[in-house]
Amino acid sequence: MEFEILGSGTSHGIPVIGCDCAVCASADPHDNRYRASAFARTGEHAGILIDAGPEFRLQALRAKIRKLDALLVTHAHADHIHGLDDVRIFTHDRDLPVYSSRQTLREIRDRFDYVFKETQKGGGKPHIRLLPVEPGVPFRIDGTGVFATAVPIMHGELEIFGWRIGDTAYLTDCGEVPDASRELLAGVKRLVIDALRERPHTTHFNFAGALEEIVKIAPERAYLTHICHDFSHGEIFRWIEGWLRSNGGRAEVRRFMDAGKKIEPAHDGLRFDLIP
Ligand SMILES: [Zn+2]
Ligand SMILES: [Zn+2]
Ligand SMILES: [Zn+2]
Repeated sequence: MEFEILGSGTSHGIPVIGCDCAVCASADPHDNRYRASAFARTGEHAGILIDAGPEFRLQALRAKIRKLDALLVTHAHADHIHGLDDVRIFTHDRDLPVYSSRQTLREIRDRFDYVFKETQKGGGKPHIRLLPVEPGVPFRIDGTGVFATAVPIMHGELEIFGWRIGDTAYLTDCGEVPDASRELLAGVKRLVIDALRERPHTTHFNFAGALEEIVKIAPERAYLTHICHDFSHGEIFRWIEGWLRSNGGRAEVRRFMDAGKKIEPAHDGLRFDLIP
């Protein structure tokens, strides 16, 4: 399988509307970031979607998605579910299974109440099935042979889901990983993790917080996501190098570096292999 980053930007996306900063005006395509979302490909044009944000239609076109096996939702913030209506093109033959926590599914039911109401024939609506998931318990995604596990993470005071599929974990909108969840992440080879910006934030890891967590989880490769416009893609690479150098005196950081493990900013369209 293959894992693809459909969007690596924070809730505003980059460029930010009306912003003339150097990052928003950058000509480097890596600095163009749609809202955070990912796709685990089970076939050339098919796969499992993680979050359906406001740019889902554009992301699906760009990634040439023709079939959705399922949707895994991290939480119900607007930047993660407000593209949900656009999954309807994928639900003509089959109700799309949508997996998340009871709380998030309740919010989806409220926000998209028209989907669950009897309405006149002819109006297009997404056909979805809401399936609550027990955190920490691997389950098989309906219609596939792929298993996923919901990993509870803290988004400020809100407990939301990260998702693990095989050797890959996706932890967006995360400011803290509880110890029990770190056990669910044991052995991951690829980690995508929230790193909003350099300055601290109450509900998201900043760069330093994300790097501290990466060193603890110790995947072979880690990618930062949910990035804001404070730093360009190139500047984040340099920031990471500087952090590793200045913290290289610490045993766990030194071990991480000596093992040849890598940390880099994600970008839209980034793809890597996933072993389910
Ligand atoms: Zn978000
Ligand atoms: Zn800007
Ligand atoms: Zn959020």
